[in-house]
Amino acid sequence: MAASRTLSSLRLPPLPTVGELLKLYRLRAKKQLSQNFLLDLKLTDKIVRRAGDMKNAHVCEVGPGPGGLTRSILNAGATDLLVVEKDSRFIPGLKMLSEAAPGRVRIVHGDILTYRVDRGFPASISKPWEEEPPNLHIIGNLPFSVSTPLIIKWLEDIANKTGPFSYGRTQLTLTFQKEVAERLTASTGSRQRSRLSIMSQYLCTVHSCFTIPGRAFIPKPEVDVGVVHFTPLVTPQIQQPFKLVEKVVRNAFQFRKKYCHKGLEKLFPESRCVELTEEMMETADVDPLLRPTQLTIPNFRAIANAYAQLCTREPDLLGYDYRDALRLKHLNRESSSQTQALMDVSEGRESHL
Ligand code: SAM
Repeated sequence: MAASRTLSSLRLPPLPTVGELLKLYRLRAKKQLSQNFLLDLKLTDKIVRRAGDMKNAHVCEVGPGPGGLTRSILNAGATDLLVVEKDSRFIPGLKMLSEAAPGRVRIVHGDILTYRVDRGFPASISKPWEEEPPNLHIIGNLPFSVSTPLIIKWLEDIANKTGPFSYGRTQLTLTFQKEVAERLTASTGSRQRSRLSIMSQYLCTVHSCFTIPGRAFIPKPEVDVGVVHFTPLVTPQIQQPFKLVEKVVRNAFQFRKKYCHKGLEKLFPESRCVELTEEMMETADVDPLLRPTQLTIPNFRAIANAYAQLCTREPDLLGYDYRDALRLKHLNRESSSQTQALMDVSEGRESHL
C-alpha cells in the first residue's frame, strides 16, 4: 500500500479518455446491468469532492464500469482503492488504470450485493464507533436496479455495525435515481416522505448533494440522478432492533393517504387490532389521526418503543405478519373451494351411479 505522498505525485499520468477506452474495448452499455456511464470528469470530480477528503484514503468503489469515477477518486489522492465490478468486460480497462496507479488499485470481479466489504480492508483502519469516521469511503454511481436493495442492506449493516461498518462510521456517497434520492432525504410532511426517509434518517445524517441531469450519462437514462451522502449517526434515533423498526415503518406507510393508525393496525391480529393500536398510540403519545408522512422520527421512536413493549408483554405479537395471515386466508379460501368442488364432483358421480 502506498505510504503518505503529496497530491501531485498521486495524479494519474496521461491516459486514453474514458470515451476512447469504451471504443478501444468495444464496450456497449448493457441494459440488464443498468449501465449508464459518466464520461464527464468534471462531474465525477464533483461527486468525489462531496464524498470528502480522499488524501491517503481507503475507498471501495461500487460498479466502476469504464472507470470515470475511478480516475477522479485516484486523482483526489486515494491510496487504497478497491473496485467491485460485476461485468468482466470492464476488467481489462480497470487493469490499465491499476497499472497507471501502481499499488493503489485492487480489482474484485464480483457482485457488491454478496461481496464481504468487511474483509476488504485491514482491521488497523478501524475507528471506534463514537469517534470520527474512519478514513474509508464507499463511493459509487450505482446501477439503479441494485441501489435500493443495496442501501437497505447497508442500513441494516449500520444498525448492526457489520459489513462496511465493522470499521466504524464509514461514509457513503452514492447515486440514485432522483426520485429515490428525494425519498431518502425527504423531511416530515413532504410529499416524498416514505419508508426510505425514516429508515435512512433514523440511522444517518443524510445529505442530498446535487442532481445530475440524465443527459450527462451515456446512454441517457429516463430519469435524472441524485447524489446522496450518508454519515452513520453515533447514536441511532430509534434504539430498537432494525427488523422491528422496519416492520413498524413498513406498516405505517402502508396506506400513505389515510390516518396512520390504519396501517399500524396491521401490526396486530385482526381480532385485536383496534384495541392494541389504541393502546400503542396512547403509550407512544402520538396522534393516530396524523398521516404517515406527518410522523416525525421521534414519533416513530415512540411508536417503535410502545410496540416493543407490547411484544415483551405478548411475545407472539412480534412474529405476527398480516401478509402471512392474508396468504393463509387465501389458501384456506382456495382449499375450501377445492374441497367444495371435489364434493360436488363426488356427489355428482354418486348421483350418476
Ligand atoms: N461507475 C461507472 C460510471 O460512472 O460510468 C459505471 C456506472 S453504471 C450505472 C453501473 C456499473 O455497475 C456497471 O459497470 C455495472 O456493470 C456495474 N454493476 C451492476 N451491478 C453490479 C453489482 N451487483 N455489483 C457490482 N457491479 C455491478
